[in-house]
Amino acid sequence: MRVLVCGGAGYIGSNMTAMLRREGHEPVVFDNLSKGHRGAVKNVQFVLGDFGDFDFTFETLQKYQIEAVMHFAAFIEVGESVQQPLQYYENNVSKTRTLLAAMEKAEINKFVFSSTAAVYGMPDTIPITEDVTKAPINPYGETKWAVERMCHFLSQTGRMNYAALRYFNACGAGQGGTLGEDHRPESHLIPLIIQAAMGKRDSIKIFGTDYPTEDGTCVRDYIHIEDLCKAHLLALKKLDSESELVYNLGNGTGYSVRQVIDTVRKVSGKDFNVEETDRRPGDPPVLTADAAKARNELGWSTHFPELETIIESAWEFHNTHPNGYED
Ligand code: UDP
Repeated sequence: MRVLVCGGAGYIGSNMTAMLRREGHEPVVFDNLSKGHRGAVKNVQFVLGDFGDFDFTFETLQKYQIEAVMHFAAFIEVGESVQQPLQYYENNVSKTRTLLAAMEKAEINKFVFSSTAAVYGMPDTIPITEDVTKAPINPYGETKWAVERMCHFLSQTGRMNYAALRYFNACGAGQGGTLGEDHRPESHLIPLIIQAAMGKRDSIKIFGTDYPTEDGTCVRDYIHIEDLCKAHLLALKKLDSESELVYNLGNGTGYSVRQVIDTVRKVSGKDFNVEETDRRPGDPPVLTADAAKARNELGWSTHFPELETIIESAWEFHNTHPNGYED
C-alpha cells in the first residue's frame, strides 16, 4: 500500500517508515523537519512540506497516489504544552484538521493516528483499559483527545476509517539499533539516562521520590518502538473492514524510574550521578496499559517486552550516534 507517513522523519515515524518498507509497502515521508531528521529517512521518497498547508498536502496525496495516511507529526512535550497551549492546539489540532480535510478531498479514507496514554489523565484504575474515562490533565493530552474526537465524528459520516493508537512509553531503537531517539532538547527518561552514562551530562535527575509506588518514583510502561510500529501495520490492515479502532499499546508491565536507571547501569556497565529532585508537574504516579484489546482483536504481540532488551537497543543507537543524527 502507498502510505503517507506524516512526521516520518521523527522517532516513531522513521521507524514506521522503515518497517513499512521492510513489509513491502511504499511509504512516502512527509515532514517539515521542524523536529525530525533527514538522516533518519533512508531509501524512501521524502517530501519536505507542512501538513498544515492544505494545497500542498492535497497535491502530495494526489501526486503519490496515496492510499492511507499515518500521522506522527505532533508536538509531544507535556511541559511545553502547558507553557505554549496555543502552539499545541495549532500544530496538533488545527493542522491535523487540515490534513484530514485534504484527505477527504483526495478521497483517502484510511488514517492511523498516533495518540497517547495522556488522554486518560490521572486514571483511578490501573492497568488502563480503553474505556477508562478520558480526562487529560495537560494541553498535550487534550489536543490528542480532540483529534480522536474529530476522527470519531468523521468516521460516523462514512468517509473515513481510522485507528487511534494510544501509546504508553515508546522507547528503544529499531532497524538493528539504527533508528533511535534524538529529540532536541531531549526530555525523555531513557535517552537522558544514557547520556549520563556516556558522560554527556553530569547527572540524571529523578523527578519525585515520594510517589505512592514501591520505591517512591513514577512507574511507566515502556514499549519497544518496533513492537509499537507492528501494531500500526495490523491496524492499517484492519481498516479495510472497520471504521473505528482504538487500542492501547503497552506491555502491561510497569518499571519505576529507579529501575530504569539501574537497568541502564547494568547494560552500559557505567556508573553516573543521580539527583533526586521535585516532582515534575502533571506526572501521574503509575501508568500501565491493559492492551488485551489490541492482542485479541489485532493478533498483536510484543517481541521485546524486557526492559533490558529495550535499553540495549537504545544504548546501541546512542553509541553509534553519539551526537544524534548528522543531518
Ligand atoms: N523522568 C525523570 N527524570 C527525567 C525525565 C523523566 O525522573 O529527567 C521521569 C518522569 O517524571 C516520568 C518518567 O521518567 O515519570 C518517564 O518520563 P518521560 O518524559 O520519558 O515520558 P512520559 O511518561 O512523560 O511520557
